[in-house]
This record gives sequence, structure tokens and C-alpha cells, in this order.
Amino acid sequence: MTNAVHAGREDLTALGVHVAGIDQSTTYPVTGVQGGDSYEQMATRGRPRPGDSYVYQRLWNPNVHRFERGLATMEGAEEAVAFSTGMAAISAVLLACVAAGKPHIVGVRPHYGGTDHLLATGLLGTRVTFTTPDAVADAIEADTGLVLIESPGNPTIDLIDIADVARQAGDVPVAVDNTFATPVLQQPLALGAAISLHSATKYIGGHGDLLGGVVATSTEWATRLRQVRAITGGLLAPTSAYQLHRGLQTLPVRVLQQQANARPVAAFLAEHDLVEWVRYPGLPAGDPDGIAARQMAGPGAMMAFAVKGGFDAAAAVAEHVRLIVNAVSLGGVDTLIQHPAALTHRPVASEAKPGEDVLRLSIGLENPDDVIADLRQALEAARDLSPEPAREEPNLRVAVRA
Ligand code: PLP
Repeated sequence: MTNAVHAGREDLTALGVHVAGIDQSTTYPVTGVQGGDSYEQMATRGRPRPGDSYVYQRLWNPNVHRFERGLATMEGAEEAVAFSTGMAAISAVLLACVAAGKPHIVGVRPHYGGTDHLLATGLLGTRVTFTTPDAVADAIEADTGLVLIESPGNPTIDLIDIADVARQAGDVPVAVDNTFATPVLQQPLALGAAISLHSATKYIGGHGDLLGGVVATSTEWATRLRQVRAITGGLLAPTSAYQLHRGLQTLPVRVLQQQANARPVAAFLAEHDLVEWVRYPGLPAGDPDGIAARQMAGPGAMMAFAVKGGFDAAAAVAEHVRLIVNAVSLGGVDTLIQHPAALTHRPVASEAKPGEDVLRLSIGLENPDDVIADLRQALEAARDLSPEPAREEPNLRVAVRA
């Protein structure tokens, strides 16, 4: 909690301010025509020396760097590098692998749909082998640059033993998408990962009003990522960096309260007669292999559930919520529901796509009783679409047409 409030703000008192100003400059005056060697300094080593000109915002911005220092501290990382979006962060990591001559990526599904799509298309010059958590070692090849996992995974909250994957990967760096857990509940670097990355758009921002991405890692990786960022330009905007840095201060409080709110919602769904199954690590049977207990400080506030009655019933639940918002994204102060197969995971190959009956819930800061009441009425609206009538209706229609 103390780090969340103070990290990245160490120099403010000396500056005579309590809150950092937002530095909007795109360009900075230089001395002489070349600005000394500050350009090379930042393009290659990724940081200005005291007194250096920042030259240009694509190389350096103080608000971005404050957020990076705060996030790195919370992740227990040497450094962090921030990007315009989570996808820009993942792209930079992949491009750094390609640049190092190691374009082969081992991916353990499920991934967020955008990540899966990026890997499957090989758009950035990578080549992917999708595998399972227990077969990572077998998937590694001579030019493997990265093992990429998500835990908990989007959208079905699959848990992967990070330390076990790191053991299997050996010298190959493991990157963990830590978006769902946040550093409050999970610190992948302490478990042997080389990289912990985030869609900062989600819990870190926490209010659904900005896009951002960030990678927490070693100085060596951070230097490579800053070079990729300076060249390709997936920069975090200073105003968003300011908001994300502020977001870190309340991140532990929000995550812990959202987690507390999620528990009764998951318990309600687990008892509901129209719910086929619920995936939530905080349910009594939700962590059968003890993975969450080993590597997370709590089960978080993300869950997935399947509605009896297939696509039509699941769609009816999403369409009938009144308080909960039917929308993609997650991790904000308000509860969101969405249909992954139709939205976030639409580009995923059919063998890895979530079921048509699955909905994903991101629990917010509302009174959980209100969230439960909303889900109850939305499930009632789907009751008519439960298996029995749904099976009869199409047959009737076929009979009439025939
Ligand atoms: N990783 C995860 C787990 C996500 O859920 C998302 C987006 O939903 C991303 C990465 C991509 O982040 P962004 O939308 O900020 O590009």
C-alpha cells in the first residue's frame, strides 16, 4: 500500500510540489544543433542524464517515467516501460524478440483475443506454437524468444503455475500478462518470469477513461523495449500517464474491495439453476490444483460462467442487465459483462474460442447485493431460453415450414 501511494513521487518535495505537473511538451530546446549526445543517450540507453534535454516526447516524458517507476516498484521489477495500449506493450515485447533473432513464440492458451490474433497471424514476424501449460518445455525451439502466458487467463480465468512454466522454459524468458491479477495480487517476476505486462486500460486506470499498457521487467529488457518504443512510437500520452500514476495510489484498495464484492456474486451464480458452471478461483472448488493459493494473494474480481441454453440464453442475460453494463473491457469501478466468443475473442480460432454459452464478468465497486439482484433478473429473462423450450421451438418451426 505504501509503495502504491508514494513510488515514482520521490522527487516531488525537492521540486516544491505535492502533485506532479503534466508535461505536455512534444519537443524540448536543445543546446547546439545536435543537442549534445542526449538523443543517442535516450535512444540507446533509454534515460536522460541530469541536465540533458529530453529532445522529443517519443524519447522521454517525465509523467510516463513517474508511472513507470511506480509500477516497477509494485511489481518488484528493476524497471517498467509504458505504452499507448496493452497491445502496443505486447507488440513491443514481440518485436524485441524478432530484433534479437528469436522470432519463435510459445503461447499457452487462453490468451486475450487480440493477443491470440496477433500471435496466430504472425503479423510482426513472429512464429507461434500454441501449447498447454504442462508441455511448454517440448514446444521450445532453438530460436524461441519468449513464452507468453496469462494467469488468470482471459476470458475463462484459467490458472497457470507460473513458477512451473518458468522452470520448463529454462533460459527462455517467460512473459506473464498480469492484467487480471494486478501486482496487488500477483508478482510474476518473483515466480521466475522475466516480464510482467498489463493492459493498463483495465485495473491500473480503473475508471474506463484511458488506454495504456506497461511492461515491468529487468533493465536489460527495458532498454530494448525503450528502443522499440522510440522507433515504432507506441507512446503513452502524458495525461494518461498522469492518470495511471494516480490510479496506482488506489489500486490496492480498489482491487481488494472488488475482490470482496466478487465472492458473493460468484457464490450466487454457483447456486443458480440456470448456470451450468462458474469459474472463479475464490469458490470452494475454484482452485483445484492450489495454483491461486500458491501464487496469488487472492482470487481477484474476474469470473466466467456458462448459461444453460447456449448462445441465446447467454446473449439474453447480457442484453437484459440494467445496472451492470454490457460492454468489453474490465477492471473498472463498475461491473461489466460481455460475451467473449462474440466480442473480445471473436478472432480466435474455433478450437480455442470460448463456448457460445460463456459470459465474462468484471466485478466493480457497487454493493454486491445490487449486482446479484441485476444478475438474478437478467437470468430470469433468459429462463424461457433454457434447454427444454429452446430445443422444441426450432423443431416446431421446421415442422411448420415443411
Ligand atoms: N491483455 C489482456 C488480458 C486484455 O484483457 C487486453 C484487453 O482487453 C489486452 C491485453 C489488450 O489491452 P489494450 O486493450 O489496452 O490494448
